[in-house]
Amino acid sequence: MTASTPVPLIADLRSDTVTTPTPEMREAMAQAQVGDDVYGEDPTVNALQAEVARLTGHEAGLFMPSGSMTNQAAIAVHTRRGEEVICAEGSHIYEWELGMMAAFSGVVPRFVPAPLGVPAPEDVRRAVLRSPHQSPSGMISLENTHNKAGGTVIPLDVLAAIRAVADAEGLPLHLDGARVFNAATALNVPLHDITRHFGTVSVCLSKGLGAPVGSVLVGSRAHMKEAHRYRKMLGGGMRQAGILAAAALVALRDVPARLREDHRRTRQLAEALVNAGFDVDLAAVQTNIIYAALPDAQARVDAWAARGVRASALGHDRVRFVLHHQVSDEALEGAIAVLTA
Ligand SMILES: *Cc1c(COP(=O)(O)O)cnc(C)c1O
Repeated sequence: MTASTPVPLIADLRSDTVTTPTPEMREAMAQAQVGDDVYGEDPTVNALQAEVARLTGHEAGLFMPSGSMTNQAAIAVHTRRGEEVICAEGSHIYEWELGMMAAFSGVVPRFVPAPLGVPAPEDVRRAVLRSPHQSPSGMISLENTHNKAGGTVIPLDVLAAIRAVADAEGLPLHLDGARVFNAATALNVPLHDITRHFGTVSVCLSKGLGAPVGSVLVGSRAHMKEAHRYRKMLGGGMRQAGILAAAALVALRDVPARLREDHRRTRQLAEALVNAGFDVDLAAVQTNIIYAALPDAQARVDAWAARGVRASALGHDRVRFVLHHQVSDEALEGAIAVLTA
């Protein structure tokens, strides 16, 4: 035996970031009008920013290379050094953004308990600090859907109640909406019913929406002007980024209507896993993400990969499956056969 033959891929369920641009996206990229976006002169980037602002009901938008950058630029806009960011436990802005809130903005997180990713408004209120002996609260940040909790959705009445806390305390409210389109789909409401509660929102185009690169931060024109400076500091001034924005505009047009299918397939996979004896909390399966608790996670993931199904091992005893628009019903059936064998 020499080099092993590559295994034909049945389904890549590691993340919804693994999608590749559709032929329509490629075509739009090839045709895109571009200019220097650091000067604000890329017409396609400007069109994308206006479209995300319109969909979210905000004044303005700013295109950046990643969701970590849109989140961290928002934190820099809203806080001063030495302050705290109140956020749900397990929030991406802390867990998966490499200490950047401390490294860049000089702020620290204060976690609020969040069963199924949903913090209680009263706990958020109690987390607000005003004493001269403690770091003052600088902002509140929510995550919807909540990645680490399982792609879970915050109910609209909870959002409204947390917005009321933020208003009463005079604190800015940010949304890490990497998957806010999934949240809107699950709640069956227009996007702005969620996003209108927030001062700034980070929207990822490269997750379930399937664009190759990028996120948009939305908020007031004044906030976007400040965020523009932080984007440049963070190395996110991308010049002729219209080729990326063009793909994102196609993603916004074509993919949101398909998220419902992703959620249906996720449910189907979750139920098949439970029937096969996997430890999956079905109450946490609300959108396109499934976590299963199982020992030797990496070994199991490696064995599935050898049979053409890719998943993520998170820690020693947890695996994650994420659905996206490039997993068909047929691929899902193939994946279920491998995973439940
Ligand atoms: C993916 C993700 C982000 C942004 O990640 P990037 O890889 O930096 O684009 C932010 N928040 C959540 C909840 C995410 O899942």
